[in-house]
Amino acid sequence: MNDLAKILGIYDAKVKLKSINDHTISFYIYTDTKPHLCPHCNLYTSKVHDYRMQKIKDIPLHNKSCILFLNKRHYHCSGCGKHFYESYDFVSRYLHRTQRLTKFIAHSFYDSINIKHASIRANVSTHTVYKVLGTLNNSSDRYHFIRQVYWALENVRKNVQKNMSKTLRRYYKRSRHIITARKSNLSEENKAALNLMLEYSEDLRKAHFIKELFIKLLDEKSYSKQRVLLREWLLEVESSGIKEFNPAITAFRNNYKYILNSLKYRHISNGPTEGFNNKIKVLKRISYVVRNFTYFRNRILMATA
Ligand SMILES: [Zn+2]
Repeated sequence: MNDLAKILGIYDAKVKLKSINDHTISFYIYTDTKPHLCPHCNLYTSKVHDYRMQKIKDIPLHNKSCILFLNKRHYHCSGCGKHFYESYDFVSRYLHRTQRLTKFIAHSFYDSINIKHASIRANVSTHTVYKVLGTLNNSSDRYHFIRQVYWALENVRKNVQKNMSKTLRRYYKRSRHIITARKSNLSEENKAALNLMLEYSEDLRKAHFIKELFIKLLDEKSYSKQRVLLREWLLEVESSGIKEFNPAITAFRNNYKYILNSLKYRHISNGPTEGFNNKIKVLKRISYVVRNFTYFRNRILMATA
């Protein structure tokens, strides 16, 4: 990593100034070849197929439009013979803009400014602003599906408890937080207690493993890896045969696209609502005419977050 990379906050990459004028600053971004996980078959490969230069918009720098030219590597997987593009933590997949630009645009909805103004501020087209606005709704409730996993785990615990002696049952109930907490956050003493509790039932052991696997998925920083992990995780849950997870499986299968969206735009949250009516009135006034209800609804949710 060089100084320019540090300034731009792009890690694991080299940055070179490409050009600079009154309106635009552009950079070249280079990354080193390293083993990449094939999204099709999950094998590691570092065989390069070819390169392609991709233009990516970033947040404005010193009031100039900022463009990154990414020398995108196309990998060849010898496992399945397919090709895939290198993934980068800072750029949204399939989008020609950085994640922080998406965030920057989304955050402009917290202020009551109109679409045109937001587009000027972010140096993007109004079309891009509308696109970001359109995705916000789909990623609004991340906790809704996280909850499903914990509910299932809790139900497994409750069902296991049913066949226990009174004292043991009371112990499991009182120590339930040891099961729901992240294993890595537990003290050594509680870890030992957890292992003992999981000894008792294979279902509980499996359910706990599924929960921990899910936490690992949520903690993963790269969206492309999360996509792979989510697919694997669902298969793991389905093959576990634990019926308490059935509602979660249904919820995940039915909302797969939205769940992926919420992982992709995890930095955007709709949050609690406050001063609702007044904000809506301001928004209505600056929007002049409401042409699209979904956009308007999303803007209200954002502005009141
Ligand atoms: Zn492959």
